[in-house]
Amino acid sequence: MTYVVTENCIKCKYMDCVEVCPVDCFYVGENMLVIHPDECIDCGVCEPECPAEAILPDSDDKATPWVELNRTYSTQWPNITRKGQAPADADEWKDKPGKKELFDPNPGSP
Ligand code: SF4
Ligand code: SF4
Repeated sequence: MTYVVTENCIKCKYMDCVEVCPVDCFYVGENMLVIHPDECIDCGVCEPECPAEAILPDSDDKATPWVELNRTYSTQWPNITRKGQAPADADEWKDKPGKKELFDPNPGSP
């Protein structure tokens, strides 16, 4: 099992998760983060820290469509270990459904 970042993170990117991860396995894109599945030690510490409830275990059905995306982009985006500035409109996007089409494949800045 591993943990997976899902749709709720898109355009929210609060980054509380990166501060608590003991193995620094978060990677940053332009408008969301992902977890490297081979580096995650499945501790679960990040899951309750996410204000957007975007982090799920891969055993959760809602995580399934995001498993491959986390694997793919965690090898292409830069590693992030420190919480940065969340987007100014993050609160407006929190809890909004249907954000998947807004996913940006470009790398972000750590
Ligand atoms: S805390 Fe949640 S919303 Fe923020 S970057 Fe991490 S996964 Fe995304
Ligand atoms: S479950 Fe633990 S190791 Fe995996 S991403 Fe979350 S904090 Fe990091």
